[in-house]
Amino acid sequence: MNFRELASKYKTPLYIYDLDYMTKQYEELKEAFKGRKSLLAYAIKSNSNLSVINHFAQMGSGADCVSIGEVRRAFLAGVPSYKIIFSGVGKSDEEIREAIEKEILYINVESEAELGRVELIAKELGANCRISIRVNPNIDPLTHPYISTGLHDNKFGVDIDSAKRMYIRANNSEHLDPVGIHFHIGSQLTELKPIYESAEIVADMVRSLQSIKIELKFFDIGGGLGVTYKDEVTIKPYDYAQAVLGTLKGLDLTIICEPGRFLTANAGYFLTKVLYEKKNGAKRFVVVDGAMNDLLRPSLYKAYHKIEAITESKSELSEADVVGPVCESGDFFAKDYMLPTLEHNDLLVVHSAGAYGFGMGSNYNTRGRSAEVAVKGGESRVIRKREEFEDLIALEKDYLVK
Ligand SMILES: *Cc1c(COP(=O)(O)O)cnc(C)c1O
Repeated sequence: MNFRELASKYKTPLYIYDLDYMTKQYEELKEAFKGRKSLLAYAIKSNSNLSVINHFAQMGSGADCVSIGEVRRAFLAGVPSYKIIFSGVGKSDEEIREAIEKEILYINVESEAELGRVELIAKELGANCRISIRVNPNIDPLTHPYISTGLHDNKFGVDIDSAKRMYIRANNSEHLDPVGIHFHIGSQLTELKPIYESAEIVADMVRSLQSIKIELKFFDIGGGLGVTYKDEVTIKPYDYAQAVLGTLKGLDLTIICEPGRFLTANAGYFLTKVLYEKKNGAKRFVVVDGAMNDLLRPSLYKAYHKIEAITESKSELSEADVVGPVCESGDFFAKDYMLPTLEHNDLLVVHSAGAYGFGMGSNYNTRGRSAEVAVKGGESRVIRKREEFEDLIALEKDYLVK
């Protein structure tokens, strides 16, 4: 990847996505489930650019969505309705209505109260809505607390006993069709055991539903496969698939997997230029043109991203904080990172920026979000243009009272 050329062609700050890498990841995971009925439903929130979603759709991927906006993106990007799943703890009536009207694969229901709303709205529409229920298996996923979702302490899903009641209710309803069961215990998972244990709990639930004549079709194992940012040892797709399949003995279910980060994280690079070097006492700072409004993960989770300096500088390495222009001390990409002395306009490449990067961006400090560029077969093209000042004020300027 010629970062210098890309930066000079498209300017910085800039997101670059290697679509060929995404293909490779997709194929590896799909291959792991070979011989089983399976669907990969790309978790759109990890990188919701339409061209990225379309890239996966062309390989046969479905879409896991957590808002009706994402459902609309999936449709626009060419994902067929029967491969779209809608999850999330707080769906509004309007979102539920639209999802039912669009006849997506199923709505992933996350509470008894939500089940009631879905039933009522389906009734109003004279529809029979396919649902799955998100089970919270109360298993510690051993990941960062902000991205843990599989403990009763987390807001996601329902406990096993509630789930059973909900399936019985749904099965007795004219307007609900329970077709699936779902769990997603967290993100950036690097341990197989919690996944395996969760799958076992959920598979047992499927068997106990079978015994009361409730037959499900889809076993949705969520996403969460971790990636290497620094030196994490990750789960191999093959081992992941084997572990899950091992819990499904005697069950004929289509496996749905909802990978996000695994497909996109290491396909993405965030390019930012050095503006200045400065020192406060002995403390060294490298000030760059990108900021937390572009890539929030370091500020939000103290996440590590590898940073590569592209420079002529042959100086010794020394520790520096890499910081952006935003007026927050939490605005940094790295702390105490070993870097050579850098010049104005040297380039820093922030690696592993393809997941939860652009999408978590904001316009804080009235900064337009970066352009996004896709690279495929050595060719690059813009897939979202850089936001200009006019874009940022478009929804306000007509309301300005002078
Ligand atoms: C976020 C999310 C995913 C994807 O998680 P990754 O860690 O990016 O793989 C999958 N399913 C659901 C329901 C999610 O909320």
